[in-house]
Amino acid sequence: MDKIIILGGGLSGLAAGIRAIELGYEPLILEKNSVSGGLCSTYKRDGAYLDLCIHYLLGIGNEPMRKIYEKLGCLDKGSIIKLPYFYKFYYKDKTITISRNINEFKNELLSNCSFNEDIKEIKLFIKYIKNFRYFPMIAKKSTEIMNRFEYIKTGMGYLKYIPTYRKIARLTIEEYASRYKTDILKEFMLSFMPSSFTMTYLIGVISKFITGNADILNISSSDFSNNVLNKYLSLGGKILYNEEVQSLEYDNNSIKRIITKNNTYEDFSYVINATPLNYFYNNLLDNKYKTELVDKEIYDYENNKIIASYVVFYKIKKEYAHHIPHYFIIKNEDNIKVANNINSSIGFRSYEYLKNDDDTITVSAIVDQTIDDYNYWVNLKENNTYKEEKMKKALEIKELLIKKLPFLSNIIEVVDVITPLSIENRCNALYGGYLSNLGTKTSTRGIFEVKSSKLNNLYHAGQMIYVIGGIVGALVNGIFSVDVLDYNIKKK
Ligand SMILES: Cc1cc2nc3c(=O)[nH]c(=O)nc-3n(C[C@H](O)[C@H](O)[C@H](O)COP(=O)(O)OP(=O)(O)OC[C@H]3O[C@@H](n4cnc5c(N)ncnc54)[C@H](O)[C@@H]3O)c2cc1C
Repeated sequence: MDKIIILGGGLSGLAAGIRAIELGYEPLILEKNSVSGGLCSTYKRDGAYLDLCIHYLLGIGNEPMRKIYEKLGCLDKGSIIKLPYFYKFYYKDKTITISRNINEFKNELLSNCSFNEDIKEIKLFIKYIKNFRYFPMIAKKSTEIMNRFEYIKTGMGYLKYIPTYRKIARLTIEEYASRYKTDILKEFMLSFMPSSFTMTYLIGVISKFITGNADILNISSSDFSNNVLNKYLSLGGKILYNEEVQSLEYDNNSIKRIITKNNTYEDFSYVINATPLNYFYNNLLDNKYKTELVDKEIYDYENNKIIASYVVFYKIKKEYAHHIPHYFIIKNEDNIKVANNINSSIGFRSYEYLKNDDDTITVSAIVDQTIDDYNYWVNLKENNTYKEEKMKKALEIKELLIKKLPFLSNIIEVVDVITPLSIENRCNALYGGYLSNLGTKTSTRGIFEVKSSKLNNLYHAGQMIYVIGGIVGALVNGIFSVDVLDYNIKKK
């Protein structure tokens, strides 16, 4: 039985482990932290659950992705919460709600429309959403091992989306929003994600929500990851914690040794890297083994931007929970500047379904951050003003929240604040970047290959490999990495 060492016990490493056992290999995961789950995790402070990851699980309804969630044990504990709406957007004294019913949503947009010219645009927006409803998020197998027939068949599956895709794939959210004359509609378009990204993602997630393919579970992100861990362990999988890989040694275009702080591993045939791709190439792999594709795509941060966040966790009294939407976005009318940017809006998620120890629920605020923002926080850390600034912004955001929901005054307190630096420290996610699925107009990001290295026995997993990113990308790539490895062995 061939032994595979998997670097990193995030969702992707765990998924790779499960697939490896299924295909008859003997996997061993080396994880740097004392727990698995990586970015998909939750921690506790002052009796409150602070959840890092799941804002939405894509493909959780009736898509092929649902089968993958089931196969990997993701849904073994916990059940799906069917959310009544995607999010509410607060602008001045008005609100836009993205309901599950697309006609209700359309009417909501139309009722907020102040100029006739915008009606045409709203209708087009709804048409794009409808057209993208059944857009296949994932392929059945990695394109690296498809035969010509499968490749063509997969391509055909995308044909009916091409007219819409052509219109939105190179259209930035900023450009699209500027077509609207009505302020609230313009601001609504800018509210969900950074404006330099293309409309594909915005249209895509709303479409997924409308078809029941973007919801959450009634468990924490850690519980979700633990479901996958338990599946892996139940099949006989092994994982070692506090084993941070420090270097790799090569010979004849193969990895021969894996060195951690306390151990050296030599007894393996294959290595699957499930640590963040850019971290791996920067820190663990010799330059000569990088492929050009990887080199171009992971270092061109201007065109292939990272998604990172500044997150504040607040606690509020439980009896007020039902007055707070599960997800809402407030126009940043106070022009709060977090690090280098004034984001047009600030998003909030409430966690009524996680039971804190006391009579509170957690509400988080999430603000998009860039590499420049990451550098800003690094500078503050060097000047010892990091903690002070983190807290100052948390309090400013709290005031914005209270202005919109005045009943929160006196019943809300800050529990913790994290920046892209915290995310990087936790998982070696470079610059705190945790989603690779979003493209800009000039993005060159596509599908990295699982075998994107010149080393014979190295394969890649992780959310950065496959264009979809996030949890879906992490799980699917975990599976694909082993599928490609297995295919290559059998071909030999
Ligand atoms: C604030 C936030 C919100 C998010 N919201 C969503 C969402 O709503 N929906 C969604 O789909 N996704 C979301 N994500 C993204 C999602 O969490 C990640 O894309 C996914 O979990 C990545 O999994 P991964 O296995 O590829 O990488 P990781 O989780 O980064 O796993 C890598 C693992 O490798 C370990 N490691 C790193 N270096 C070493 C080393 N040298 N030696 C040994 N081990 C090492 C790390 O500790 C980690 O456990 C969010 C993430 C964050 C932080």
